[in-house]
Amino acid sequence: MHLETKCLHAGYTPSNGQPRVVPIVQSTTYTYESTEEIGRLFDLTSDGYMYSRLGNPTVAAVEQKIAALEGGVGALCTSSGQAATLISLLNIMQAGDHFVTSSTIYGGTFNLFSVTLKKMGIDCTFVDISADEAIIEAAFRPNTKAFFAETIANPALKVLDIEKMATIAHRQGVPLLVDSTFATPALCRPFDYGADIVIHSTTKYLDGHAVQVGGVIVEKGGFDWGNGKFPGLTEADASYHGVRYTTDFPDSPYSVKARVQLMRDFGAYPAAHTAFLLNLGLETLPLRMAKHSENALKVARYLASSSKIEQVIYPGLEGDTEHQLAIKYLPKGASGVVSIVVKGGRQAAAKWMDCLMLISRQVHVADIRSCALHPASSTHRQLTEEQLIKAGVSPGLIRLSIGLENVEDIIEDLRQALVQL
Ligand SMILES: *Cc1c(COP(=O)(O)O)cnc(C)c1O
Repeated sequence: MHLETKCLHAGYTPSNGQPRVVPIVQSTTYTYESTEEIGRLFDLTSDGYMYSRLGNPTVAAVEQKIAALEGGVGALCTSSGQAATLISLLNIMQAGDHFVTSSTIYGGTFNLFSVTLKKMGIDCTFVDISADEAIIEAAFRPNTKAFFAETIANPALKVLDIEKMATIAHRQGVPLLVDSTFATPALCRPFDYGADIVIHSTTKYLDGHAVQVGGVIVEKGGFDWGNGKFPGLTEADASYHGVRYTTDFPDSPYSVKARVQLMRDFGAYPAAHTAFLLNLGLETLPLRMAKHSENALKVARYLASSSKIEQVIYPGLEGDTEHQLAIKYLPKGASGVVSIVVKGGRQAAAKWMDCLMLISRQVHVADIRSCALHPASSTHRQLTEEQLIKAGVSPGLIRLSIGLENVEDIIEDLRQALVQL
């Protein structure tokens, strides 16, 4: 099936007389005819739902749909994108371990990595993903367990050279984890280029309507977890009387472990109703992403022609530093996010933002309605000036999320605000 068809049909196939639309199974619990059957569920020797902290039929339908969209072997939905990032890393790391990450990442991810994970004894090294391979490789240590980056970085809009990073990660014996929130599987499938794990904040384009906070972790399958670096996957799990994920679940050991061990212990599973809303968004994902990308390119071209704008950052724009990578990895469109730097720095940026009428000021991105955000005073507020520059966020940068309104109306709003500068 093609992507458009999978968005509508993957994950749920009703049989005779069943509801056409994925039903909301609003139940925490599931009933069985014998204690022995329940015992088998706890032994992980039989499939089925036992408790909605670990699995739920509505959420499972969405998990299977997203796994199909990315081309993965398994997926685990989470209650937020942050939970997805956290669980994706804790699934293969513990105190004393280290990972390498792109420095151009979402502000919340930066805080998680630079403060909270460090407190838990997990260290990381930030690298510039456009640096030479040798420089990036020098950041790896014997205890390095993962390489993390974003397909299209939020909000710096750097495009990841997925093949290059996968080659480096695999040479070092670690998986490449990619946060593909801005690209979505409609624009790029990181697994096709060698990534091993994909995560999303489903709060953004996958939902697209700004009605639910959620995340997902998807496993490609086939990574060699048996190279000695990942005992948590290859050695017996005492909390499941000796399950070995790589031998007992050879097809999708990573996602089974994340669910039955970490989701069991941490409990960050979405509600059925949330998954139902996410599914509605997924149904129109390819249509929306094409239109977001088309509108954003027109906006980027318009802004690039304005004398009041210092810089327009959009990978789809001819002449952008990321354009060659976008041609390779984002041939169907470069998403709806356009970052701009207004002449006059922080103050001019704030003034221009306040003049917008149709485009709303909000701490969100990837909505069907156009919106704008000033990262330096919001999502990246905790960063020092130096950290801001490293994250690709200059103080005057505004992140525009171009929606599905008629593009002429969007451009008219941008124009009238520029006139007032
Ligand atoms: C928003 C976002 C996150 C965090 O997701 P939440 O759903 O807000 O927890 C992670 N990565 C990227 C790229 C994001 O844009």
